[in-house]
Amino acid sequence: MPSFARRVASYTTTIFAEINTLAQQHNAINLGQGRPDFDGPAEVMEAAIAAMRDGRANQYAPGYGVAPLRQAVADHARRFYGLNIDPERGVIITVGAAEGMFSSILGLVDPGDEVILIEPYFDTYLPAVEMAGGVPRFVPLRPPDWMFDEAEMRAAFNDKTRAIILNTPHNPTGRVFSRAELSLIAELCQKYDAIAISDEVYEHLVFGDHQHIPIATLDGMADRTVTVSSGAKSFSYTGWKVGWAMGHPDLITGTWRIHQNILYAVNHPSQYGIAHALGLDNEYFAAFRRMYEGKRRLLDSILRESGFTISEAQGAFFIMADFSAFFDGDDMQFARWLIEHVGVACIPPAESFFSSQHRYLGRKHVRFSFCKNDDVLLAAGERLVALRAKL
Ligand code: PMP
Ligand code: GLN
Repeated sequence: MPSFARRVASYTTTIFAEINTLAQQHNAINLGQGRPDFDGPAEVMEAAIAAMRDGRANQYAPGYGVAPLRQAVADHARRFYGLNIDPERGVIITVGAAEGMFSSILGLVDPGDEVILIEPYFDTYLPAVEMAGGVPRFVPLRPPDWMFDEAEMRAAFNDKTRAIILNTPHNPTGRVFSRAELSLIAELCQKYDAIAISDEVYEHLVFGDHQHIPIATLDGMADRTVTVSSGAKSFSYTGWKVGWAMGHPDLITGTWRIHQNILYAVNHPSQYGIAHALGLDNEYFAAFRRMYEGKRRLLDSILRESGFTISEAQGAFFIMADFSAFFDGDDMQFARWLIEHVGVACIPPAESFFSSQHRYLGRKHVRFSFCKNDDVLLAAGERLVALRAKL
């Protein structure tokens, strides 16, 4: 009986689907998958609907993406970061940041090239590197601060290094990489003639004094970085799956050649919605950040009160919480127990976000997401503060 290819043999159900199913079975409040339970701005939806109604967007979109969205991506990059992106040749619209990363990795990495992954890493990066025939090299972030060691980062680079995959603000740790950390990576990329493929989907979610710095803005990096982002998190439309990859046209050509052979074009109406969204005024982005700052504080205090030791989120919408003070098992056992006995779902990171070499670093943590209405966070809080009584 014919079966699937060896290439996919190890890619079982993702942790997000697994936890969603368990959460549903046990009627748990789901703080697992990063999936807002509210809509983004109405005017963004209206812009997509208008493009359907007036017939602009009911047939295939251009493969690169619609011109107003490519222009909006370039304008947004200039407005927030002073980046100079060519909207014609330096931007390609993708099916979310997920496809942006996947197509970029496949289009830019040759078999045998080494690719540095900072771990924990978003779960889809490693399959992309493997399918490209790349050789992953892992640099761990270590709890409780989730910082990398400079010597380990230096040691990971060599003449075979083709790319480093970055993600800042970082899923799942909530780290926002500092200028000093990014400068070290930029220095090493230039020394070894490597590129950065930088996933910045949480670019507008930074808290306190933390500042999002695209690595493309560092000296010497503009021409050796592909920056990937999407409308999912910044505008709370994860279901639309509209993202982009931008950078030097020579690099974006690599992304494009994969993209055109998998999808050719992206959902058309939602591109007009996200084009509108990227042009929203600065007050939208400031209010968005304030809203999430409130949610971060709320979940932060709930988790502390419940007995977790937490690493404060500097950005994104996740908190990594250490449960080892009151639970003996590993992260998967804890996540299952929490769903079944407390009625709250979270993501156990060890299996999906770490290589086997560094998996132990994730065994005592789970990831909670705070992209939920406050009443949902409060309801989860009522359950969580009672958890130790159930042990
Ligand atoms: N990268 C990271 C770090 C993520 O957390 C996510 C989840 N949204 C994605 C990529 C995928 O983003 P999109 O929905 O835009 O494909
Ligand atoms: N980015 C979201 C998360 O990390 C969603 C991931 C997914 O559904 N693949 O939870």
